[in-house]
Amino acid sequence: MKPIHDDTLDPQLESWVLSANTEDSDFPIQNLPFGRFRQKADEAWRIGVAIGEYVLDLRAAGLIEHGDMQRVMQAAPLAQQALRLALSSGLRSGSARRAAWEAALLLQADVELGLPCEVGDYTDFYIGAHHATEVGRQFRPDNPLLPNYQWLPIGYHGRTSTLLASGAAFHRPYGQIKPATADMPVLAPSQRLDLELELGLFIGLPNTLGEAIALQQAEQHLFGITLFNDWSARDIQAWEYQPLGPFLGKSFASSVSPWMVTMQALAPFRRPLLRPAGFAEPLPYLDSPDNRASGALDIQLEVLLQTANMAQAGHAGDVISRSNFADAACWTAAQLVTHHSINGCALRTGDLLGSGTLSGSSREHGSGSLLELTCGGSQPLQLSNGEQRGFLADGDTIVLRAWCEREGAQRIGFGECRGTILPAQTLP
Ligand code: CA
Repeated sequence: MKPIHDDTLDPQLESWVLSANTEDSDFPIQNLPFGRFRQKADEAWRIGVAIGEYVLDLRAAGLIEHGDMQRVMQAAPLAQQALRLALSSGLRSGSARRAAWEAALLLQADVELGLPCEVGDYTDFYIGAHHATEVGRQFRPDNPLLPNYQWLPIGYHGRTSTLLASGAAFHRPYGQIKPATADMPVLAPSQRLDLELELGLFIGLPNTLGEAIALQQAEQHLFGITLFNDWSARDIQAWEYQPLGPFLGKSFASSVSPWMVTMQALAPFRRPLLRPAGFAEPLPYLDSPDNRASGALDIQLEVLLQTANMAQAGHAGDVISRSNFADAACWTAAQLVTHHSINGCALRTGDLLGSGTLSGSSREHGSGSLLELTCGGSQPLQLSNGEQRGFLADGDTIVLRAWCEREGAQRIGFGECRGTILPAQTLP
């Protein structure tokens, strides 16, 4: 088959949607991320693509005839490329489609943006090596990284029932907590509620149960990437995690941003994989020259904390951390897919793989959780309005942001992932 000439990443391209052409737009015509939206709460979700301040309704634009994101995500790579090209051509300055497509545009601010697809299974990894080392040091001072860490991407199976669309609020969770000085645990609302700065990787093309995905093919199974905040109750987690790992300290809420930035849009931002000094080379099934040379993604990450007082004063919040996916992660997206399927596990369209907390090499370089930023709460953050935070308080909002930029490519962004903490409810 003749390959399609794909110029959708050309940094010179501009859109007739003028808000897509501003320098700081997350959604220029080179990005074209997919998400779901609706105008009323009782409506079915519709499929949209973000362009500037707008969302293009793909059905109204005549590009698809259904509202099923799974069908878009599981399409063969050539069909996906053709859809991207059609979107790019139709949204370009001077396109003859402009008149028809203007009627298919809605302001993002005027619609509800949901989870980007029906999420199937959810796995959370732990590939931020700086985060794993720092947290391990707090939980096990003499033995921060267990021997398996350098050999395989550690992960656990989470629950999709507790995934929240960006913007949703949730109640502070209750759980069993055992104070260090007490003989027995108590049931109480978590006092050490934390965020986790992560990315969410969405599976597009599924594999068949029993068939492992080779590293060279792994990215063909990835549709796109979102922001992901894996809210964590550290006091519940510390008591329950041994010997089987995270459980109720994680499964009360995780927030997902609305836009899946596709692997095609991320192509200009590839980087060599960085592994921490002293780590062994991966086993052959997790290693290839391409993966070493360009398997990582240069995605810049930022965390903002907005307290209730800041919100009341109209203050957007303080940036409390900045880091980068490529600097933080010791495994690539492709390695996660391959390792996850090496036992024959079926990955299905819409499955979500969390990256794990993406912290930089030190607190100065950006930690992705308060556990690290405040040394377990012992060194509270001083906020710009005079408030302090060891862990999160009721009314706090956390906003995650991400973007990619480099010389010679158009900057693209991920939008934001936002969530607010409500007080603990009264137990029945
Ligand atoms: Ca996590």
